[in-house]
Amino acid sequence: MLTEFELIGRYFSRPSPSAVLGVGDDCALLRPTPGMMLAVTTDMLLEGTHFLAGADPRKLGHKALAVNLSDVAAMGADPRWALLSLALPAADESWLEGFSNGLYALAYRYGVDLVGGDTTRGPLAISITLIGEVPVDLALRRDGARDGDDIWLSGATGEAALAVAHHAGRVALGGALLESCTARLDLPEPRVDLGGRLRGIARSAIDVSDGLPRAAAVAACPDPALAEQCMYGGGDDYELVFTASPHRRDDIAGISAELGIALTRIGVIVPGEARAVLRDRQGNPVSVARAGFDHFR
Ligand code: ADP
Ligand code: MG
Repeated sequence: MLTEFELIGRYFSRPSPSAVLGVGDDCALLRPTPGMMLAVTTDMLLEGTHFLAGADPRKLGHKALAVNLSDVAAMGADPRWALLSLALPAADESWLEGFSNGLYALAYRYGVDLVGGDTTRGPLAISITLIGEVPVDLALRRDGARDGDDIWLSGATGEAALAVAHHAGRVALGGALLESCTARLDLPEPRVDLGGRLRGIARSAIDVSDGLPRAAAVAACPDPALAEQCMYGGGDDYELVFTASPHRRDDIAGISAELGIALTRIGVIVPGEARAVLRDRQGNPVSVARAGFDHFR
């Protein structure tokens, strides 16, 4: 059986060239880039709440980082450093190997260094804190939208929630659709490059890990009503919603072509009470069964 220090040394101590000091001391030492603000976020994944017992550890490693990358991207920040807090029922080496590989593979793609964390024994729980950098005054905040801004959505929503519905026996998806929906659930692709490119162009942004409107992507689902609810409020999407002046439409089309990510204009900011009104293609109001997931409801 591995000791705690062997476990950390073997699975979570790869080089961290962007840190002054990484894993091994009481704290990591980080030198922020002059002129940058830090964007800091944390997200937790619990067995039984966010994933099922027996979930593939490589996919968990990917997803635990991806959900945080999505938040950093939604601020228009570039991800830099991560801290990993892990509770494990046992030091299972094949689990640790898969988890660590999944985590580091995604971290390398975006230049993120794992610089510290905490490891304890307990029911399986994974929490990552991610630190990004964004030039002072260019962070994409939720409160930056102005009247008349276009509202944009990246990619498509609803597919991950459809995979959940399939696994729960609420719908039977066919081969290719099941595969693409399951990939969106297990291996979400955070919109890191998009978040960076939107700096100075978008005026506000959020990530929509808890769903938002977007038609078409789930058109192939055998249960259209369910597909629609998944699309509007299903969860686990990790797309970005942002607003920008209508003068920026050409810039945004350019970014979409450059990154190969669909960017769809889904609405407009209007003055008045702060609320979202959803309408279908015919302009009729749509009611959403569950808008966003609340762990205490
Ligand atoms: P402390 O006693 O100060 O809490 P630990 O013994 O928990 O320190 O951790 C020793 C070192 O290993 C620290 O630098 C800590 O950041 C790092 N560390 C612990 N667990 C992890 C982990 N799961 N991933 C990355 N680094 C970790
Ligand atoms: Mg500790």
